[in-house]
Amino acid sequence: MGAQLSVTVDVDGAAGLPRGGAGYEHRLSCWSERTYGITAGLPRILGVLEAFAAPATFYVPGVTAERHPDEIAALADAPHEVAHHGHTHRFPNTLPADEQRSELIEGSAALVSVVGMAPRGYRAPGWELTRVTLDALRAAGFAWDSSLMGDDRPYTVDGLVELPVHWALDDAPHFAHTTDPAGLLAVWLAELAAAVDEDRHLTVTLHPEILGRAHRVDVLRRLLDAAVTAGVELVTHSAVAAAVATA
Ligand SMILES: [Zn+2]
Repeated sequence: MGAQLSVTVDVDGAAGLPRGGAGYEHRLSCWSERTYGITAGLPRILGVLEAFAAPATFYVPGVTAERHPDEIAALADAPHEVAHHGHTHRFPNTLPADEQRSELIEGSAALVSVVGMAPRGYRAPGWELTRVTLDALRAAGFAWDSSLMGDDRPYTVDGLVELPVHWALDDAPHFAHTTDPAGLLAVWLAELAAAVDEDRHLTVTLHPEILGRAHRVDVLRRLLDAAVTAGVELVTHSAVAAAVATA
């Protein structure tokens, strides 16, 4: 099969603030940093992807799609795709079962209205997938989830394809502790080399308000350059999920 790389972008917007941003509406600095991700960070990331003809899977909360319909609709243009990232971005583990199910339904409806098609993949806000949400995903016919950490390779959980993630491969925890991009680049390049050695798929996760800053986006450029040089195939999550499901 050969090694494969999926770039995934969690386009949280203001919904990525604690409690889905509830109570933050009057905190203009926090709110503006999140808006920056959509209006400034996202175009910068899209520019790097385009330079490598690299596809990405964008995980978007429903309320963020509704707040920024033009920007989010554009993310569904080939070669990219949009997938489900909750509706309000409140973490499923903090919600009762009925609200977890309505988050799934309302998030799908918002993406249908903005993007024009129902999402087939899901990533839990905060990666806090629960049994209730997992059951609801399967019942709704989702093809994959990308929230768990049970393997390096894609696997299945209760019949659903799982495209695993890890905190070390996510820009958010890295830049919570440092402003130096070098550490994240070193981790991504080491993991890419391991994926080549182990002949497997790799998912990296980034956020437009974090990696989309001018002094950080070069980390993505260097990763894609290394992947192309090593002959690693750049793939969307839906393509990987389809391959796993038919294997
Ligand atoms: Zn998120």
